[in-house]
Amino acid sequence: MANNMEYDYLIVGAGFFGSVCARELTDSGKKCLVIDRRSHLGGNCYTSNKGGIHVHEFGCHIFHTSNEELWAYVNRFAEFNNFKYHGVARVDNEFYSLPFNMWTFQQVYGSRNPVEAREAIRNHGEGIEEPRNLEEQAIMMVGRPVYEKLIKWYTEKQWGRPATELPKEIIQRLPIRFTFDSNYFNDVYQGIPIGGYTSIFDKLLSGVEVKTSVDYKANKAFFDGVAKHTIYTGAIDEFFDYKYGELEYKTTRFFHKMMDTRDAQGAAVINYPSRDVEYTRIIEHKHFDWVETDFTILTQEYPERYVAGKTEPYYPVNDAQNNAKYLLYKELADGLHNMSFGGRLAEYKYYDMDDVIGSALNFVKTLK
Ligand code: UDP
Repeated sequence: MANNMEYDYLIVGAGFFGSVCARELTDSGKKCLVIDRRSHLGGNCYTSNKGGIHVHEFGCHIFHTSNEELWAYVNRFAEFNNFKYHGVARVDNEFYSLPFNMWTFQQVYGSRNPVEAREAIRNHGEGIEEPRNLEEQAIMMVGRPVYEKLIKWYTEKQWGRPATELPKEIIQRLPIRFTFDSNYFNDVYQGIPIGGYTSIFDKLLSGVEVKTSVDYKANKAFFDGVAKHTIYTGAIDEFFDYKYGELEYKTTRFFHKMMDTRDAQGAAVINYPSRDVEYTRIIEHKHFDWVETDFTILTQEYPERYVAGKTEPYYPVNDAQNNAKYLLYKELADGLHNMSFGGRLAEYKYYDMDDVIGSALNFVKTLK
């Protein structure tokens, strides 16, 4: 392994933030070393190939963006298919359309047109005008019956606390429409990389020195001596040895199963917002990028409490308390020389993939 500042940049983490930085810096003539303590590239975007089916091992990832430049950028590293995510939620044996659109309002309120849907929401909106938390935001947006059926329990399972104690921004991620359009996203561009996400990372990192199963923290003294500048994309609280206490994350346990069926659920994702079903959703991977096989692979997602050092941190819990704690860590980070922090875990931000890539591209411009 290298020593004596052999590299211009050490990049800790081979997810989107780290890999985009590595690509850009390498292309501008810098020598980079990328390390990741996991055994694969791509962080939680990693997909494995199981008999031709690309399995989203760490939760489903659907790429979507409205940024034309960014769309052109990712298309340099993969060809995307025309997958469009139309959400489906199953409650007992009834199926509802997501995100909240005329189909949903028809199914729950019997609304026949947008005027009736708006009126139903107003009637069930409990007069809320200035929501203070996720529950109030949801009731204002879609009315209590839709909230109770499709949001409340999904949210409380997902985040492990009452919806009244969660920031309203989380539910604002979902569009609400008064048309019969069930596209989950409002973005102009959407798709799944043909051949899975892992191939994007192979291309982003081609020609870059990469070492997997290598832990930066466990060998910090050594790694701090290999490069002139370090870009860290791991959890910021862990980096500072939890000096101000742990930041809260949510993690997910995945239960993968194979079935001798060509097509088990007829959709890539079905959500289970009921209280009595432990998992939040079931993914049927072959629907993302169809492949004709006589078997299928399904994944149930069980939200779990994150335990530092034991499980992977997935979702930051951006409530006021955690955000305030993050700012303390950020202040420490800003005080370090030759060290930068970026990405979902290092910025403690509920980033979508396009935002992370955009943030990495902006960040490297400040270095060049
Ligand atoms: N949500 C919900 N019911 C659903 C799907 C989503 O209540 O069937 C809420 C829930 O609070 C969730 C949030 O909307 O955390 C954001 O959902 P999204 O699908 O964007 O989450 P992600 O894909 O990041 O897991």
